[in-house]
Amino acid sequence: MVVSCLPIIAICGTTGVGKSKLAVELALHVNHSCRNAGWRCAKVINADAMQVYQGLDILTNKVPETERQGIPHLLMGFKKPGEQYVVGEWVQDTINLIDDMHKNNELPIVVGGTSYWMQHLIFPNRLVAKESSVSSSKNTIWSESLERCIASLPPELVALLYNLPDEAPSAKLHPDQAFRLHKLLSALDPTMSQRWHWKDTRKVLRSLEILKECGRLPSSIIAEQAASNAQGSQPRFRTLCFWLYANPSSLTNRLDSRVDEMISHGLLDEVVNLRELAKSGSRTDSEERSSTSDYTVGIYQSIGFREFCNYLDAPSEAAYKEAMERMKISTRQYAKRQISWIRNKLIPVINAANIDETIIPLYLLDATTLGNAWMENVQVPAAEIQDAFLEGHRLPDPRMLSENAFKLLSVSNKVVDPTSILQSRKRRICPACTVQSDRPVMIEEGSEWNTHVKTRSHRRMAAKSLPQADHHNNSECQSKEIYSS
Ligand SMILES: [Zn+2]
Repeated sequence: MVVSCLPIIAICGTTGVGKSKLAVELALHVNHSCRNAGWRCAKVINADAMQVYQGLDILTNKVPETERQGIPHLLMGFKKPGEQYVVGEWVQDTINLIDDMHKNNELPIVVGGTSYWMQHLIFPNRLVAKESSVSSSKNTIWSESLERCIASLPPELVALLYNLPDEAPSAKLHPDQAFRLHKLLSALDPTMSQRWHWKDTRKVLRSLEILKECGRLPSSIIAEQAASNAQGSQPRFRTLCFWLYANPSSLTNRLDSRVDEMISHGLLDEVVNLRELAKSGSRTDSEERSSTSDYTVGIYQSIGFREFCNYLDAPSEAAYKEAMERMKISTRQYAKRQISWIRNKLIPVINAANIDETIIPLYLLDATTLGNAWMENVQVPAAEIQDAFLEGHRLPDPRMLSENAFKLLSVSNKVVDPTSILQSRKRRICPACTVQSDRPVMIEEGSEWNTHVKTRSHRRMAAKSLPQADHHNNSECQSKEIYSS
């Protein structure tokens, strides 16, 4: 994949932190500054999965026309409310727009809170592996090796494979079921099974489901993803990334009062209108739809929509309060998920790409305090960094921008390669502590294991079973022995 040397600016961060405001300011800066490296103008491209839809402008927090200050906002409000629009489509549409803009000497500023859209735009080659695992589970086509393996299974495990439980059994209440699931996974994909304790029934079941959905070993799917991740660590465009951040306590207050503001700006009318539209749409649509619209796709998934629908169905003061409270809680949870995505997914891949030299500069801008501080902490530094980036000048150390930047960008380079995670976090059975072969004691290798063998209970068990006493020094995994007994 050839990396384009043409630039884009990417702004990510949680909901309600001021991303759209910053995007407009940076675009205006390009339009009016003489230090714009020859760019004619800048345009904003929306990367918010809910703002691509028409309607619910207040609920989805679209930047009002008056605040756009004449800056065009693309891929915003152009899809019908119930239409599906998935990450792959958005990435393709955005790449096309960016290419057109570059030809016209226009600078693309991509802004939005849907972090995985942003990540897939910045890094190519990361969608393939994911899509291949979404195939239907009804008629699995097994890989050849897996088919052979299944043929050699005892009948009760084959039966279990074809009738996986809908929900993971509790290891406490149903240890037999839990252990059987792990035994099945261990027979089919030993590498994967060593990653989970047999008591981690949800993870064990999920691995088995993936195996059935894809007809392949989860561990080999992970290995393939790791390979494509390594390829994908080169960004598609020369990207300058801003992460707009506010301390959680300050953000929570802002998010709460934003919900109150939305109400006063007419959020309820919006919900009423959209419901009407959904009803009339379902009658005129040629595609057959039930009289109640499908609220699980498109804009109907917006935080707050369902909550206020419940209120409108049976209005009362209590229902209203409940809707408000729920919307506030969901908004806070969404903001939390956004931050954890940035920290645990986006930053590690950016760090991986920056390992030898800075390919994707990432700057955290501290928007904890609003008012005058915004200018000082966000607007001015962002514009300066953007200028330097566009002119190809040396950029400042991102960690030196603020205390939060130092704290949040200095995270040690986590292991991002999934295969090495699989290998490094392998569990092994402690033969000394295992009294019942179908309830093995499993400990993660490394520090957990080292701590375990020093515990009094382990040493006591090890002393009791003297013939096995040296087993804990043996690094071979014992699972085969135990499962074959
Ligand atoms: Zn032990």
